[in-house]
Amino acid sequence: MPKPLIVITGASSGIGAATARLLSAEGHPLLLLARRLDRLEALGLPQALCRKVDVTDRAAVEAAVREAEELYGPADAIVNNAGVMLLGRLADQPVDEWERMIDLNVKGVLYGVRAVLPGMVERGRGTILNVSSVAGRKTFPNHAAYVGTKFAVHAMSENLREEVAAQGVRVVTIAPGAVETELLSHTSDEQIKQGYQAWKEAAGGALAPEAVAEAIAYAYRQPPNVCVREIVLAATGQEG
Ligand code: NDP
Repeated sequence: MPKPLIVITGASSGIGAATARLLSAEGHPLLLLARRLDRLEALGLPQALCRKVDVTDRAAVEAAVREAEELYGPADAIVNNAGVMLLGRLADQPVDEWERMIDLNVKGVLYGVRAVLPGMVERGRGTILNVSSVAGRKTFPNHAAYVGTKFAVHAMSENLREEVAAQGVRVVTIAPGAVETELLSHTSDEQIKQGYQAWKEAAGGALAPEAVAEAIAYAYRQPPNVCVREIVLAATGQEG
């Protein structure tokens, strides 16, 4: 039996790239989305349609999903993983950083959901895996706008789960603690960035992205009548 299509947003680095490698090794055709097409193609995965898509562009997300479904059949899962973390204080953080996080971390997730959900409801099966964060469950210093977006991911996911549970669609929230990826590099405040780095080192280092990919694959692999609603995972040494 050929394995069904899985869509992964933000597959050009970190958690998304690790998830793409793992699900590809398990035999799934994939649609890989990100802005850095070269990085998607460099993964060199078989049966992987790579598209340069900014996930804040709803029409582009929709078009890429339709194109992949023409090739590989209906999407059985989406990993809404693309996200950005721009740490800062609300008093002086550049406002455009709030906009970027809200557009990508919140609206981007909704756009990914909409691109696959009607088909899943119609077929009576499918899995939506939204990558939130431990910062979607509790607050951290200098994280106000970011935690706002991740609390939103938690809330939207749980509400969506209730909405489509009776129709056979599973909704899973993945909530990692610190993971060793490019995520921190986009924060513009150097002092905050250094402080976060020191916090991570004091905790004995962050999770490898492969550990999060394993959690995503574990939730997806369950039989259709088992919905793993949420997985929270962090490095053992991470206290907060
Ligand atoms: P990375 O920065 O390594 O990966 C982020 C991914 O998102 C990249 O593939 C990037 O690709 C993509 N991306 C960014 N902006 C856009 C956009 N506008 N359109 C499409 N893709 C975009 O970080 P992580 O792997 O750590 O992050 C993945 C998810 O995990 C995020 O949602 C993050 O919030 C979450 N997370 C991460 C934690 C961590 O400590 N690392 C902890 C908890 C949660 P490109 O730039 O090519 O577009």
